[in-house]
Amino acid sequence: MLLEVLTPIAKSWPSEWCLEANSLAIQVHGGYGYTRDFPVEQYWRDNRLNMIHEGTHGIQAMDLLGRKVLMEEGKGLQLLGARMQATMARASREPALADHAKALGQALTDVGAATQAAWATGNPTDALANAVPYLQACGHTVLAWIWLDVALTAHAAPDTPARTGRLAAMRFFFHYELPKIGAWLRVVSQRDTTCADLAEDAF
Ligand SMILES: Cc1cc2nc3c(=O)[nH]c(=O)nc-3n(C[C@H](O)[C@H](O)[C@H](O)COP(=O)(O)OP(=O)(O)OC[C@H]3O[C@@H](n4cnc5c(N)ncnc54)[C@H](O)[C@@H]3O)c2cc1C
Repeated sequence: MLLEVLTPIAKSWPSEWCLEANSLAIQVHGGYGYTRDFPVEQYWRDNRLNMIHEGTHGIQAMDLLGRKVLMEEGKGLQLLGARMQATMARASREPALADHAKALGQALTDVGAATQAAWATGNPTDALANAVPYLQACGHTVLAWIWLDVALTAHAAPDTPARTGRLAAMRFFFHYELPKIGAWLRVVSQRDTTCADLAEDAF
């Protein structure tokens, strides 16, 4: 059941956000990144496929919100929450990680509340109108959990540049990325139909 709920996230999160790493690699190289002098532009185009094949992003998102989180009355999401709670309990005992554990706890609560709100009318058209932002928010929450787990191991390790880098990457994710879920979950919770309501000829 845990795998059922994690599968659309494991497929889609890297498809969307590791592509961003390829885009930043182009940026770091400046104009040379855009040309074919370095292979980074090729990596971007090759990896752009990942949001399309093996279940497009939109279809994976509908699978998550329309099927996986509903199975056995939300058992998959509960199992995932229990795993996250165990990591949070360990992290909250470390003063340097306690605030991050708290932020993850809030994200998990927000995902749960948005799931309920999305399905409050019981109408799939309302709930699934914002399935992609829901997938993005769930993915970022899962990645925050993974970073907290990495940080727990790094925190206990000897002081090396790699340790410093891992702890900084964790802080970056919590400070710059995790807060984005607020905007994503807002439209989910409000069952916002701005996009779904637009007539085809208005596009
Ligand atoms: C390089 C490459 C290699 C491939 N290799 C294989 C292969 O080896 N074997 C194989 O079987 N296939 C293969 N495919 C096909 C691939 O699986 C399909 O392209 C993919 O499933 C998307 O289907 P589609 O192209 O018909 O897009 P569509 O289904 O038309 O989707 C177009 C867009 O509309 C969205 N969309 C579609 N339906 C809905 C809906 N109901 N609600 C909301 N949004 C929706 C999608 O998310 C997508 O963004 C390959 C494709 C590529 C590009």
